[in-house]
Amino acid sequence: MPDRRPLVAANWKMNKTNAEAREFMDAFLPAAGELGDVDVVVCPPYTALQTVVERTREAPVRVGAQNMHEEDAGAFTGEVSAPMLLELGVEAVILGHSERRQHFAESDAALARKVPRALAAGLVPILCVGETEDEREAEETERKLRQQVQADLAAVDVGQLADVVIAYEPIWAIGTGKTATPDQAQAAIGFVRALVGDRDAGAAQAVRILYGGSVDPSNAAELLGLPDIDGALVGGASLHADRFLAIAAAAGT
Ligand code: PEP
Repeated sequence: MPDRRPLVAANWKMNKTNAEAREFMDAFLPAAGELGDVDVVVCPPYTALQTVVERTREAPVRVGAQNMHEEDAGAFTGEVSAPMLLELGVEAVILGHSERRQHFAESDAALARKVPRALAAGLVPILCVGETEDEREAEETERKLRQQVQADLAAVDVGQLADVVIAYEPIWAIGTGKTATPDQAQAAIGFVRALVGDRDAGAAQAVRILYGGSVDPSNAAELLGLPDIDGALVGGASLHADRFLAIAAAAGT
């Protein structure tokens, strides 16, 4: 079985000015070198990307954006493209976060274009999928995950499937303090892995699948210890250097 290196990603959402990003890095970076066997990605808002890239240049921390457009340039007011991110030194991009799907009409059709575009540009796409509370109660979790994973990865070549990072984020667990139980998280992530396996068995074993949804230092070790969970996408707790460090340390053990 391939050795999947754990990955923890901080999704700062629409939080932190440049001054606040610098303050976070002052607290985070001195301990980041001690984290061990874990990839750490910080995803600030666009306005703080350059600051965080500059501050992490010598550190074992990579920088991601929270979205990108699939075209390289053009009449798309308010959008940012892969070449613009690459020029800054950004190496990853969150795609399909539920807040973008819910508030900004991000569609599976757009994601089917964005994911291969990110890969072609050399950015690591962190593709978010997950069900609403109503869908879980109606036992529609697998249907929703199947639809999102199949549609969003449809145009990704089999040879590049394992370069995608998938984040399973039950929407009812995001920012609510309601974490999925270990059984729920393992079952859903095992199912997502099997969906990748429908395309390619080797990719299913190699692809990294994260859990996201109210991860904090008190629940990280249990969730990250589950067999199919390769790390975490962290929102609220990632705004605090000490809490994000504790989660990253739990992933690296
Ligand atoms: C997220 O925004 O991806 C997330 C998981 O948020 P939180 O950790 O706050 O639930």
